[in-house]
Amino acid sequence: MEIDIKEKAVKLKNIIESSNNIVIFGHVNPDGDAIGSSLGLFHYLKNKGKNPTVIMPNDFPAFLKWIPAANQILNFEKQTDEAAQLIENADLIFYCDFNDLKRVSKLSEKEKDTKAFKVMIDHHPQPTGFANIEISDTSVSSTSELVYEAIQEMGDIKYLNSDFADSILTGIITDTGLFHHNSEKPRTFEVVAELIKLGGNKEKVIDQVYNTFTYDRLKLLGNSLYNGMHVLPEYSSAYIVLTKENQEKFNYQNGDSEGHVNWPLSINNINFSALFTEKDDLVKVSFRSKDHFDVNLFAREHYHGGGHKKAAGGKSYKPLNETLEEFVSLLKKYQEEIKSQ
Ligand code: 5GP
Ligand code: MN
Repeated sequence: MEIDIKEKAVKLKNIIESSNNIVIFGHVNPDGDAIGSSLGLFHYLKNKGKNPTVIMPNDFPAFLKWIPAANQILNFEKQTDEAAQLIENADLIFYCDFNDLKRVSKLSEKEKDTKAFKVMIDHHPQPTGFANIEISDTSVSSTSELVYEAIQEMGDIKYLNSDFADSILTGIITDTGLFHHNSEKPRTFEVVAELIKLGGNKEKVIDQVYNTFTYDRLKLLGNSLYNGMHVLPEYSSAYIVLTKENQEKFNYQNGDSEGHVNWPLSINNINFSALFTEKDDLVKVSFRSKDHFDVNLFAREHYHGGGHKKAAGGKSYKPLNETLEEFVSLLKKYQEEIKSQ
């Protein structure tokens, strides 16, 4: 935990107390941590007597829709006018789980003239510095964990309940891949223990997030591993290609390929894994590494993206086949770095 969080917490508490209309943003293609941290804040603010609204740039996966108050989240793509009005009336805006306004590009047009006070809470490296208060710490498991820490620093644990706990548990559990990574610090488990004491239900969270696949989604994973995966042991790398044709074949829904990119890393001596998802106008890419190879830098340098050292993403605007050719040529270039783990 950064030392300066104490100072920031005092300032943040004053701002929250003098605000009423509060808007909370998560990043585009929201994941468990973006939704979990935003809804966690929502429940805290609501219990404190405030008027918070969560706005996401676009829709989020079905496996996150059970979280308490998820049905109140506004989708900016569909509820643009309503969201714009709320942004205009906001006294305070929270930015959760991202540190660059490019991650909320369309939404950002509406908030750029805001007079609201801006607070970023995030755990990604290299923040771009757009907020009045930045609570940024790359050493925590997730933004959700950081939301808990900030509230605890403000002395406001009394406003937390089981809905808050389930939201925050969702962010921690999904961003650590069920505590497989980003969870080497004892503090993460202490926070989990506190959340369970607040009435959070770890088993329910895991069941709702991981055991609610459609049959098609499981078949899509099977197909990705059997037909879509290319293993290149000479570069200690493997990648999965998810074509539009296969998305149609398995009735692809938003979030259905979540977790696919982790599977190649379970192969011995594979240190770097990628997933290429063909979209209408671009190819979405996801990267994971076992340890040493910095995929945040790789995504920033070659794929207009970013993320964490071991988990990052981005996009390619070239056709799928060219994207794949270019990727394999990059593997050649980076092979020593990838292998040396
Ligand atoms: P995923 O591969 O699961 O989409 O994302 C992995 C990590 O990379 C997440 O922390 C996510 O926020 C980040 N990420 C994914 N896509 C992008 C992108 O296009 N730009 C940036 N800056 N980060 C991304
Ligand atoms: Mn996160």
